[in-house]
Amino acid sequence: MAKAPVLTPRADDFPRWYQDLISKAELADNGPVRGTMVIRPYGYGLWERMQAEMDARIKETGTENAYFPLLIPQSYLTREADHVEGFAPELAVVTHGGGKELEEPAVVRPTSETIVNEYFSKWVQSYRDLPLLINQWANVVRWELRPRLFLRTSEFLWQEGHTAHATYEEARDFAARIQREVYGDFLTNVLAMDFVSGRKTVRERFAGAVNTLTLESMMGDGKALQMVTSHELGQNFAKAFHTRFSSKDGSQDYVWQTSWGSTTRMIGALVMTHGDDDGLRVPPRLAQIQAVVLAVKDDEAVLAKVRELGDRLRAAGIRVRVDDRTDLPFGRRAVDWELKGVPVRVEVGPRDLENGTVTLVRRIPGGKEAVAVDGVVDLLPGLLEEDQALLLRQSRERRESRTADVATIGEAVEAAGAGQWARIPWATLGAEGETRLAEHAVTVRCLVAEDGSVPDDEDAPGNVAVVARAY
Ligand code: AMP
Repeated sequence: MAKAPVLTPRADDFPRWYQDLISKAELADNGPVRGTMVIRPYGYGLWERMQAEMDARIKETGTENAYFPLLIPQSYLTREADHVEGFAPELAVVTHGGGKELEEPAVVRPTSETIVNEYFSKWVQSYRDLPLLINQWANVVRWELRPRLFLRTSEFLWQEGHTAHATYEEARDFAARIQREVYGDFLTNVLAMDFVSGRKTVRERFAGAVNTLTLESMMGDGKALQMVTSHELGQNFAKAFHTRFSSKDGSQDYVWQTSWGSTTRMIGALVMTHGDDDGLRVPPRLAQIQAVVLAVKDDEAVLAKVRELGDRLRAAGIRVRVDDRTDLPFGRRAVDWELKGVPVRVEVGPRDLENGTVTLVRRIPGGKEAVAVDGVVDLLPGLLEEDQALLLRQSRERRESRTADVATIGEAVEAAGAGQWARIPWATLGAEGETRLAEHAVTVRCLVAEDGSVPDDEDAPGNVAVVARAY
């Protein structure tokens, strides 16, 4: 008899599969207030690894971490007209504190451009104070109407970068650098995720920005997900908050700014990109547990061997967990690690020991084989790198095989409905066509130039719109 699947198969119901996986791999639970989320230790471990990898890349650009308050005076939000209009429907507002009504309500930050600028305007006097490059790791609240665990929660964890520069060009180049060297590099080399890098249309732009750069990835069902964004803010916030500096020639000018963010959404993206019907598959360079060494049975020689192997793998620089919980059935533990997507399992039983072997089970390509116990430590680093490369290749192949070039809006809608991405000349589509697509729940994910680069100008000839259904 075939065994019952642990998860709803993706082909039957992709959203159910996603929910099942999040729950059974112990990544997160729904919080008591709608839209909120409890991140469980295994899910939080993924986030900590993301933070570590991203933080190192952010610091490479010369950006430093700081912390700004969670509560922002409501009046700050209203100073930048587009910003307040964009965020008003999503705000959580604190009206009472200590049992009294507050004189001025405080907004729970949905993002921090306003409060950051209030302080930048104090810190920046002269061109010598620029560039000012700040990042913060924090939580934000946006009252989301259609929440989904990790992908769109009302409170989420993120990093938000905020920078101020002396010239337009410098700010533009810095926003692009973050997109490339921090986000792009992290997605490619750690998350093993393919993406299209482009610019948002005016309709999809961040509220208060003059340009938004985005990385868009294709999920397992062909839908798109906006992974990260990097904004050129121009002088919009600088003017609203009087963030000015005296230039070398003594004249006063407003600073040019950027902001950029990436969130716990990336955990949901990881699930929907690399997950399969047996659970998650975590790219080895991200994994907080790259290999688990399992004792098959409660046997003294077996337990001694798993601990020894654990020590040797750890000494070789592999992030390893020893699973010697022999009071739990072996099959159940194996399924659990399968669900959690740990790249390699090293299983040790009494028979293996007699043969001088262990059983190596590979989660990413699949398959198991007996290997000499003394060879495991040398073997593993190479296998993990192979797995990392395979995930990136699969993610890239999915997008390439499911993207179609189309000539009409009708064809674009049809392709998106069939779980594909469509590429259509922006000159054909335009803002009007974009509105028509929206009637079919299809959106322009981004604009790319003919040669695949990020266009400097929305209306540059040859721009192509990448359109899809999206999360
Ligand atoms: P933004 O500040 O609006 O540019 O958002 C920065 C990034 O946060 C976006 O690129 C999204 O990937 C992500 N994001 C936006 N809203 C949510 C949400 N409700 N939950 C999780 N991530 C989000």
